Amino acid sequence: MSEPAKIRCSLCKKKFSTEGALAHHARDVHKKRAREAKPVLIAPPQDDDDDDGMVSLFAAQRAAENAEKAKRLAEADVTGWKQNTLFHFTRVVDGTRIDWWPSTAKAMVDGRMFYGGERVRQAFQRLGLFTGAAS
Ligand SMILES: [Zn+2]
Repeated sequence: MSEPAKIRCSLCKKKFSTEGALAHHARDVHKKRAREAKPVLIAPPQDDDDDDGMVSLFAAQRAAENAEKAKRLAEADVTGWKQNTLFHFTRVVDGTRIDWWPSTAKAMVDGRMFYGGERVRQAFQRLGLFTGAAS
């Protein structure tokens, strides 16, 4: 990242990162009026605040996603399913193996993946399963 501009030329509003650069510019461009070219401070960039903002935004998004996953897991009706891990359930229906990850609304039926609560629900319904595959 290049150094952010801190000052403007008072004559032409061109931006510079240092007073030295402005002085060069004033001599080269404004010549006889160079002494009139004063540095005008630009409002300091909000870099740090922006970074903090993004960090907390990402943290908030992660927290929301985790909360959503926990909610999906809690709402999932896992009756009749074999629990392999906290997030992974399996069962066999009429010889078809089904893998289900309710927290991420994902399922695999006979090797085919289904993503999203609605698709998972439809796939399960085709098998005669009416689970709480909440989206
Ligand atoms: Zn200028």
